[in-house]
Amino acid sequence: MKAAWNKIPALRDVMAAEETCWINPKQEPFDAVRESLPVNPAEVDDAAARLDRFAPLLMRLFPETAADGGRIESPLRELPALRERMNWREHVPAGRLFLKMDSDLAVAGSVKARGGIYEVLKHTEDLALEAGLLREDGDYATLADHRDFFAKYTVQVGSTGNLGLSIGIMSAALGYRAVVHMSADARQWKKDLLRQKGVVVREYAGDYGKAVEQGRALSDADPMSYFVDDEHSKNLFLGYAVAARRLAEQLRGQNVAVDEDHPLFVTIPCGVGGAPGGVAYGLKLLYGENVHVFFAEPVQCPCMLLGLATGEKDGVCVQDAGLTGITEADGLAVGRPSKLVCDVMERTLSGEFTVADGRLFDDLRALHATEKIFIEPSSCAAFAGYRGLVQFAAAQNYLEERGLAEKMEHAAHILWATGGRLVPQETRREYLAKRL
Ligand SMILES: *Cc1c(COP(=O)(O)O)cnc(C)c1O
Repeated sequence: MKAAWNKIPALRDVMAAEETCWINPKQEPFDAVRESLPVNPAEVDDAAARLDRFAPLLMRLFPETAADGGRIESPLRELPALRERMNWREHVPAGRLFLKMDSDLAVAGSVKARGGIYEVLKHTEDLALEAGLLREDGDYATLADHRDFFAKYTVQVGSTGNLGLSIGIMSAALGYRAVVHMSADARQWKKDLLRQKGVVVREYAGDYGKAVEQGRALSDADPMSYFVDDEHSKNLFLGYAVAARRLAEQLRGQNVAVDEDHPLFVTIPCGVGGAPGGVAYGLKLLYGENVHVFFAEPVQCPCMLLGLATGEKDGVCVQDAGLTGITEADGLAVGRPSKLVCDVMERTLSGEFTVADGRLFDDLRALHATEKIFIEPSSCAAFAGYRGLVQFAAAQNYLEERGLAEKMEHAAHILWATGGRLVPQETRREYLAKRL
C-alpha cells in the first residue's frame, strides 16, 4: 500500500509529517458532479427553512441570538492589518483577506453551532411532531415548555470537544438528558463547561474514533437514546451547508464580487470532515467554478487528505501513514475521515494544505496582535491555505493552469475560523504565550 503512496509527491511529504500542498487530481467542474452526489440542493433548502422555523425558539432559549432574530450567524471581517503584516514578513497572495468568524458563533462558540444545533433541532422536530406537541405551521417557541417530555429522551455524541459543547448545550437547554463521550484530546475546560450545564461527560483514554464507537454502542442499546453520528450524519452536514447562502449576503455587503474574473479562495480546517465538507458543498452550490475550496489539516493528522489522495476514504487512517494523530489542534485530532464527506468532496475539493503545530500558535498571536481577534489553535490551520497558495509550487500550478494567476488582484480569500469564543481567559493567555 505505502509503495503506491510514494508515487504521489504530496503523500511523501505527508508520511514525513512535513507541510505540503495536495491538489486534487479528480476535481471536475461542479456542474458535472452535482447530480451524482449523495446530497442535493433541496435538502439544504429544507435545512435552511427548518432553522427559520426554529428561530423563535432559539431566541427564547438563548437571548444572545435575539439581535439576529434567532439566527446563529457570524460576522465576516476583513483583515487589512494582518494582511499587511504577513505581506511584509513573507509573500502573500494578491487580493483581499477576510476572516469568517464562526469562532464567535452564539451558543457553542464554534462552527459546530451550525451542524450540531441543527441536528438536535431536527431530532426535536421529529419527536414533537410525532407526539403531537407541534404542527409544522405552529409556534416552535412553545417547545421550550415541554422539558418534562424531552427529559424522557437522551441525546449522545462522541467528540473531541466542540461538537460535544454544541450538542450538549443545545440538548440540555431543551431538557434532554445529554451524554457526551470525550476523546483523550478534549480540553479540560470543555468538559468542565458541559458538566456545569448538567451534561454527563464520559472520558476515554483513546482517540476520537474510540469515543464515537463507545457512544454509538451505548446509545444503540437504549431505545430512548439518539446518537449524533459525526462520522455518518447527513443532518450535521446539512446544518453546515446552510452557512454558504448567508455568507453570500455578507460578501455582497462588503462589495466582494465572485464571478469568472473575481475568484474566491476559501480554506477550512478539517477534522472528520463534516463541517468543512458541508460549508464547501454549500459554497459550490452558490459559486460553482468560481470558488476554490481547500481544507487544512495538521501534519500529524491529515486524515481527509489521506482518504482522498489514496482513494481509500474511510478505509485509511493516519496511523497507516506512520503518523501519530496527535496535535495541539484538538478540534482536528481525528484519525479517519467521514465516508459521506469523502464521497461529496472526491471530485469537488480543490486540494488540501497541511500545517505544523508551531505555526498555529504563531498565527494565533499575529491575528491577535494585528486585529485584536482571538481564535483557537484549530482555527488557525486556515492560514495554511492562504500562505500556501504562494508557498507551494503545486498551488502555483493550480492557479496557472486555470488562468487564475492573472486574476489574483481581484481575488478574495476567506480563512474560515472554526472556534474560539468560549475559550477561557487563562487558556487564551496560555495559547498567546505558546511557542513550539
Ligand atoms: C470540529 C472542528 C473542526 C473540523 O470539523 P470536522 O467536522 O471535524 O471536520 C475545525 N475546527 C474546530 C475548532 C472544530 O471544533
